[in-house]
Amino acid sequence: MIEAVALKRFGISSLKPFQRLVIQDILEALDGVEQKRILVVLPTGLGKSLCFMLPSLLCKNLSILVYPLLSLMSDQLGKLEALGIEAACLKGGQTRQERQHALGKLSNGTRIVVTNPETLGQKAVLEALKAYEVSLLVVDEAHTASLWGRAFRPSCLRLGAIAEALKPKATLAFTATASDAVVKDIGSIVFCNKSFALIRGDADRPNIYYGSVQSLSKLHSLRLMVTSAPRPLIVFCRNRALTESLARWLKACTFLDCRAYHAGLSKKARGEIEAWFLKSSDGVLCSTNAYGMGVDKRGLRTVVHYRMPDCLEDFLQESGRAGRDGLSAWSWVLRDPGEKREIFDCCIRASVLKAFGSLQVKCSGCDTCMGVQDRIEGLEEIRAVLVHHPLRYDRKSLIEVLMGKCKDGLESYYGVLCSWKECEVEEAIDSCLRLGLAKAIGKAGRIYWAFKNSSYVLRSTWRKV
Ligand SMILES: [Zn+2]
Repeated sequence: MIEAVALKRFGISSLKPFQRLVIQDILEALDGVEQKRILVVLPTGLGKSLCFMLPSLLCKNLSILVYPLLSLMSDQLGKLEALGIEAACLKGGQTRQERQHALGKLSNGTRIVVTNPETLGQKAVLEALKAYEVSLLVVDEAHTASLWGRAFRPSCLRLGAIAEALKPKATLAFTATASDAVVKDIGSIVFCNKSFALIRGDADRPNIYYGSVQSLSKLHSLRLMVTSAPRPLIVFCRNRALTESLARWLKACTFLDCRAYHAGLSKKARGEIEAWFLKSSDGVLCSTNAYGMGVDKRGLRTVVHYRMPDCLEDFLQESGRAGRDGLSAWSWVLRDPGEKREIFDCCIRASVLKAFGSLQVKCSGCDTCMGVQDRIEGLEEIRAVLVHHPLRYDRKSLIEVLMGKCKDGLESYYGVLCSWKECEVEEAIDSCLRLGLAKAIGKAGRIYWAFKNSSYVLRSTWRKV
């Protein structure tokens, strides 16, 4: 939908990755129940104004765009006019008739207001606007509120009170650059010290460690992660059914509090899960990408992608949920063996920074840069059994050997996967077959399992099956 509107209304055929990311976050905020506050720090050249213009066309009610300078207001009005988008301008120096005309436009259905802090702060203007539901209040060049507010633009300091009065669904502050001090100041001036989400155009999240794991059994790797990685933890899955089945399974075998979240749940159920997860310091949430900014959990420690994300935006959006409090966090991707890290070059962080046009920095932690070996969990173990004990196994007997369940076991490699659950071992065997790492030869019940590239010649040594 975002792409369609971008093309139809703005003639833009492809959005920049960050634009899509910010727009998605804004739309999610508009979807939520509570009022949201977002500060977007986006370097110039990344198409900042589209980030709020596009959502303002998609929301039902009023969008108020606040600019600190008349030149910026005129610029924006000119852009809107060129695109055939109606807007009402409220600025200083207007005659009574001009002001009435502008406000009259609103009662005739115009949904975009372009104004400045001084005009917006006037009692009559504020009262007139309060008659409408406000979807978005956008403060552009928000750093000026911090830089100029105390010195010579006291009206900028009233933006927070104005936002409180207008009760917009989302209050957005945009700026091209912001030091930590300015970010804090904007939080206090525009957002009245209430919690806000910060989206930085700099895609680097130095507190997040990025890793990917190849596994013959994602169930096994996921179970290990859920039990050993810092929690709260979220598992992003592609479909609703999977969120439910994974949550059920994890809960049953880890005894942790695991729940499923997706758009198919009732609003009430989602609300309950959001409230639970927001408070939880140890919970595990299996979710589709429906878990959005409407529920901004700051202390999320680990994000697991159950499958390789389709694109870097999805990856950044999802992994970016972790560590919003600035403390160490982890982002893992589970891959099938041999599945390429298509969307990543070598270093995940470098790939993300390159794609989002951010400055390349020294990687603060990822599997590639730290030289972590990309081993495939379960592969060596199954290979060892099949290569060193080339017996005839059927499926059941192979599982028994790997798990160390049968009484007349082999001396070595017996029970090499004893810490695995049966369904995990089954998944691993299926993966070996599916990926052609192993072959089943012969009729059911009398099966040779051969390992690919194994020089071992299979002999018909018999084993009870
Ligand atoms: Zn790296």
